[in-house]
Amino acid sequence: MTTPTRSPMMPMRCATSGKRHPRILIIYTGGTIGMIENPETRALEPFDFNHLIENVPKIKLLDIEIESVEFENPIDSSSMNPGHWQDIARVIEKHYDEYDGFVVLHGTDTMAYTSSALSFMLENLDKPVIITGSQLPIGDVRTDGEENLITALQVASARDADGQAIVREVAILFEDFLWRGNRATKHSSDNFCAFSSNNYPALASFGLGINFNREGLLHPERKGKLKVHYEFDTNVIMIDLFPGIQEHVVRHMLNTPGIRGIILKTFGAGNGPSDPWFIQALKEATARGVVIVNISQCSNGSVKPELYSAGLGISRSGVLSGHDLTAEASVTKLMHLLGCGKSNEEVKSLMNRSICGEMTCV
Ligand code: ASP
Repeated sequence: MTTPTRSPMMPMRCATSGKRHPRILIIYTGGTIGMIENPETRALEPFDFNHLIENVPKIKLLDIEIESVEFENPIDSSSMNPGHWQDIARVIEKHYDEYDGFVVLHGTDTMAYTSSALSFMLENLDKPVIITGSQLPIGDVRTDGEENLITALQVASARDADGQAIVREVAILFEDFLWRGNRATKHSSDNFCAFSSNNYPALASFGLGINFNREGLLHPERKGKLKVHYEFDTNVIMIDLFPGIQEHVVRHMLNTPGIRGIILKTFGAGNGPSDPWFIQALKEATARGVVIVNISQCSNGSVKPELYSAGLGISRSGVLSGHDLTAEASVTKLMHLLGCGKSNEEVKSLMNRSICGEMTCV
C-alpha cells in the first residue's frame, strides 16, 4: 500500500498584504502531470513532487499558503484502488481543520472514480477538494498541467464575501471547466478538455475570469463534523450488454462467487434483450440478494426502464434504476454502500436517491 508522506518540500507563502492567506494542502498521488520519460523504454513514469513543482515557478505569485503531501511512490492512476482512496481521505481527515481547501494531483485515467469515491467517503464535507492532473507532463513545453494546477489552487482558495468557501464539494478541474466529482467522466485520451459531465452543468468555467455556477454548486447544510467512511466492498462487477451476449456468459457473471452488487450497463433508456433466459437470470440473482443497478450505456440521459417493454422486464426482475448515474459514480457508490455494513434494503433505498448530488431523480 502506498503511504502518503509529508513532502520535505514545503512550497512558499507569498504574502503581499496583511490579510490572512488561504491555506491549501496539495496531495500528490502521481499521474501524467508529474511524469518523466524513462530513457530506456521511452514510456512515461511517475516522478516525485519536487520535479513537478519546480516546473511551476508561477505558483510563487499566488497569495496562497501552500503545503504538500505526496504518495511515497507516486502512481499511474491506472493502479488506483480503494486503498489509495483511503490514503487520500486519511490525509484530508487528518489535516481538515488546518487547511481551507485541498488540491489532489492525480492521473486522468481513473480520476472520475477517485472523485466519485471521495464524494461518498467525505460526509459533511464543507471545504473544496479539487482534483486535477494533465494530459501532458508538467515538464513538456506545451503542458496543460501548469494552468490546471494554478487554476485548481485559485478555485480551492475562492471565498465569498463572508469568508465561506465557494466550492464545498469534491470536484474535477480540467482545462476550461470545473465538474462535480461524481458527475464527471474522462471522455478523451487526446484533448486537453478531457472531462465532461453529460447530465449536469459545469460548476465553473474558466476564461479571462473564473465564473462560478452558484446555482449548480452544492450548498451543504452544516450537519456536523467531517465524517469519513473508509470501507468499500469490492465484491461488485459491471456487465456491459451487447447484441449477441450469451446466456452462459451472463449466468457465469451473475453467479460469480461472493458477488454482492452488479452495475448493469444497458442500451439506451435502460433496455436489454427480451429473451426469457435473460430476465429469469436477473430474477434469480436479485432473489439471492445481489443488488443490481441499471445504468445506461449512453453518456447522456437517464434510464427509464418503464418506457419500453424491453426495459420493463429488467425492472420487474428486481433490478434498480440507476437514473442518470455515471459508471464511475454507480460502481463507487455501490462499493461504498455495501462496505458500510448496511442491510440490502438500506443499500437499495440509498441507491435510489442522491446522497451528494450524484444523480437526478425525477
Ligand atoms: N495513465 C495516466 C494516469 O492516469 C494518464 C494521465 O495521467 O493522464 O495516471
